[in-house]
Amino acid sequence: MSAVNETLIRDVVAEVLGRLNGNSGTGVSPVRSNQLTQNSHGQDARATNGCGCSEKNHATGGSISTSSGRGKYGVFQDANEACTAAHEGFLQLKQKGVAARVKVVEIVKTMAEANAAEWGRIEFEETKIGRVDHKIAKLNLIKLVPGVEWLHPDARSGDHGITLEEYTPFGLVAAITPSTHSIPTLSGNIVNIVAAGNSVVFNAHPGAAKCAAMAVREYNKAIERETGIQNLITIIETPTLDSFGALCKNELVRLMCVTGGPAVVKAAMQSGKRSICAGPGNPPVFVDDTCCPTRAAKAIISGAAFDNNLLCIGEKEVFVLDHVADKLMQRMSENGAVKLNGAQLERLTKAAFTFKEGQGAGCPHASVNRDFIGKDVSVLAKAAGVDAKADTQLLFAETDADHAFVQEEQMMPMLPIVRVKSVEEGIERSLQAEHNYKHTAVIHSHDVENITAMARALDTTIFVKNGPSPAGLGLGGEGYLSFSIATPTGEGITNPKTFTRVRRCVMVDNLRIY
Ligand code: NAD
Repeated sequence: MSAVNETLIRDVVAEVLGRLNGNSGTGVSPVRSNQLTQNSHGQDARATNGCGCSEKNHATGGSISTSSGRGKYGVFQDANEACTAAHEGFLQLKQKGVAARVKVVEIVKTMAEANAAEWGRIEFEETKIGRVDHKIAKLNLIKLVPGVEWLHPDARSGDHGITLEEYTPFGLVAAITPSTHSIPTLSGNIVNIVAAGNSVVFNAHPGAAKCAAMAVREYNKAIERETGIQNLITIIETPTLDSFGALCKNELVRLMCVTGGPAVVKAAMQSGKRSICAGPGNPPVFVDDTCCPTRAAKAIISGAAFDNNLLCIGEKEVFVLDHVADKLMQRMSENGAVKLNGAQLERLTKAAFTFKEGQGAGCPHASVNRDFIGKDVSVLAKAAGVDAKADTQLLFAETDADHAFVQEEQMMPMLPIVRVKSVEEGIERSLQAEHNYKHTAVIHSHDVENITAMARALDTTIFVKNGPSPAGLGLGGEGYLSFSIATPTGEGITNPKTFTRVRRCVMVDNLRIY
């Protein structure tokens, strides 16, 4: 393309964008000359502001300084304003190209790690669930979330020319985050969503919203400083069901990403928006007689004890072949877990669950007592009436397969152990306890037929063999990390590609070079 044509096209684009901005009353923030030098293809990214100049308040981008206006570094009271601002953030990101995405990913990963100790403590002080050391560990892991490098276009070449399929952004994504890992989920979501070229508006859990807003504010300050982009990430300061509803209705929101329990998954699916749902789990573990009981015991303890069993992938109940059950429990006792007797289990069960009259046959239905979710072993031990040393990682007890600790996603450092008579029974009971969430299951076995049978029967998104559940997220196993595992909607462990639209570009009969 000649220089004249290129200039002409830029002018036309600049004029059209200017008119659009004028009509909608929105603006794109200015690009500072010292921001972004080169994108990943080595092109000058400053030139992408429409005409190539780097002046403030350019015709294509009259500034709305949201840091001094409606929202403060991405934190908004009003859901629709948060959407409008984040959509403006998307337009700015689009202008600045791949280099800006790479920069934002780097900022988020670097800041999550650099602030892990402080932010982990802040999140714990707000939510009072889980363990501070593991909250810090989760933030240190954001660097394992994949970024822009994950997006490879697919190409076809043949007698009729060439075709390119590209992974392109949706625009604005609305993300709902859980109380169990507020800043980690938010940070991981930002990496995935922005790497794919989108912006994001968050509705956090009300019980973990202050720390989420703090992180959004800090991320935006750095993003604005380093790239000039404002409000690439926004959040509703006081999230409510109404603000969730407003996000669902807002026309600028192209896609939802929800991470949470059954209620929010249902609400998102009924919203009319396309939703990527990272839903609940109740991961069963099956232990047969071919595994190493010591290795199995250590793995089970480390997975179930992590962050006081708040992880959706965390081991929630164990089925073990009868004749190896004593050995497994012995090894668990030797490796940091404490066994409850029948009376202690009963006391803890009464404290940790409430039993309401159920539907249908009128059986009492157990609900988890939220006061016990994610609490330390010492709190559970006190309720059970057992002495547990300060360094105890986990409590466990023998139960039957219908026990509330087996059937409910209890998110406590207390693991029920159920004896089974056969491999078939172990797999069948695991399937029943998983409740068709299709989330995570674990087996400890060296028998490939047992492993294969359980993998096929459970049909879960993550299936871990002979390791702790976090190995399924690349922690001690191969693979990459995300704190949003899309289960009912099937996208799996979310990554940048999850947040893209596939678009095809076809050149007919030409440009095939041989
Ligand atoms: P939660 O379901 O109570 O809340 C999750 C989010 O959904 C919060 O932001 C909450 O405000 C919102 N929410 C809840 N009910 C809603 C409704 N009816 N309408 C709109 N929004 C609603 O869950 P939690 O206690 O914060 O987190 C634990 C749950 O999340 C567990 O079930 C766990 O398995 C699941 N989880 C899943 C993943 C995954 O990747 N699949 C990751 C983390 C947590």
